[in-house]
Amino acid sequence: MIKHVGHGYVCDTKTSLLFPETMMDDFKALPENKIAQMSKLRYLRKEQQMRRRDKKLTSIKLWGYGLITCPGTCDYCYKHLEEASNPCIAEEQQVTPAYLDKVMKETKEFRTDDTYISFFGSSIFNHPQRHDIIETLKTNNDKYLTLSFVDDMMLTEEKFKDSMCFIEEVASDPFIKTIMLYITLDLGSTSRNSKYLSIDNEEIIQRGKRIVDRFGTNNKVCIVFKSNFGKLTNMDKFRRDVDEFSQLPCVLMFSPVSHDVYEPTVEMMDEIIAYIGERKTHVMFRGEILLNTGEASKRFFEAFKSTEPQMMELTNGVFCDNAIITCQAYSTMLSVRNNTTSACCYDYLSENENGKDSFVLSEVNEADKDKLVTLPEHCLVCDNVGVCGQCVPRRAVYKCTEHPALMYWETYIWERRCREYLDGVLDK
Ligand code: SF4
Ligand code: SF4
Repeated sequence: MIKHVGHGYVCDTKTSLLFPETMMDDFKALPENKIAQMSKLRYLRKEQQMRRRDKKLTSIKLWGYGLITCPGTCDYCYKHLEEASNPCIAEEQQVTPAYLDKVMKETKEFRTDDTYISFFGSSIFNHPQRHDIIETLKTNNDKYLTLSFVDDMMLTEEKFKDSMCFIEEVASDPFIKTIMLYITLDLGSTSRNSKYLSIDNEEIIQRGKRIVDRFGTNNKVCIVFKSNFGKLTNMDKFRRDVDEFSQLPCVLMFSPVSHDVYEPTVEMMDEIIAYIGERKTHVMFRGEILLNTGEASKRFFEAFKSTEPQMMELTNGVFCDNAIITCQAYSTMLSVRNNTTSACCYDYLSENENGKDSFVLSEVNEADKDKLVTLPEHCLVCDNVGVCGQCVPRRAVYKCTEHPALMYWETYIWERRCREYLDGVLDK
């Protein structure tokens, strides 16, 4: 699919080519086998990268309580629909400082001080050994530590207050370089809630504001508020919330709910794109749109934005996508849970006890490699295949060909990335 992206350029979603409009005839003359080859280029590169010996871990995702332990009951969440929401966390689900220490030692050769640690999976703020976990991470780093807390704020009021004190304490430690608070607020939602904790949507929004009041001017803390928008997003509220939060010292990020029932319609997506797209935005690698809010965004980019070039110049003025694929499995990321590690953020790939086995693609994990680079039939024939950012194993089980809005988003994200790149490169 060809899109006009300004500066006299067009981009194509099948091959990931970005080229001057004047070369349209050359593009149309490309033989089919060349097009098919280009559309698979990023998967070949992903395979090569997974096998590299000198690759480095850029992030470790630390699931304090295993994978599915959210006490939230938001109507549009897949966990709730699968009846997997749970307010009780069993002790054996908790990651221990001793296991974390073992994994940190096993992966030492692949880490640097810049490898950042992201706390995922229910709130680390509830973890009884959270202080020891931070100490364990510190003793395994030489110079400094960068942390991110990915959190839903599904906490009792008392725990929420505790969590603010914990963040403050960690941020005041001279060994901690930066903390990203990546909090899901879902601007525009009227049904984000936890019936177990008696928290409603308004409470979540208020907590967002309290976080900004407490940390908005702390230059070690970047606040990122994530919004998943979908069929239940109330557009009037969305506009009001975005207007209000975009004035605050925080970063706003948006992406669609990917769900059979609650995904947005294409029309809604157009409305949202029109509303946030008219402001200064950036595309993040997971296909989220980041609304640039000035100083707060600058701090975020300095600490967390990938420094990899977005495009590769093939020949004079002709570019192609330089992103391998969005998935970091076996490339730059390791996921640590209670007594197991995995190359995957979620549960698509194998689990190992030894951290190294989940980063080095060995014989044992050839099956994982196939899951990561072998595309299902519907993707092979899809117009977006050269630029799609969807998780490959998930593509096999969740066909986005049956979800027009998600296909639409993939095309939009690619078009935005090209525009952003050209604005940066050609406007200078
Ligand atoms: S396989 Fe999918 S879920 Fe797992 S790390 Fe890659 S993108 Fe994430
Ligand atoms: S996941 Fe969807 S958009 Fe991506 S390549 Fe497959 S069919 Fe196309």
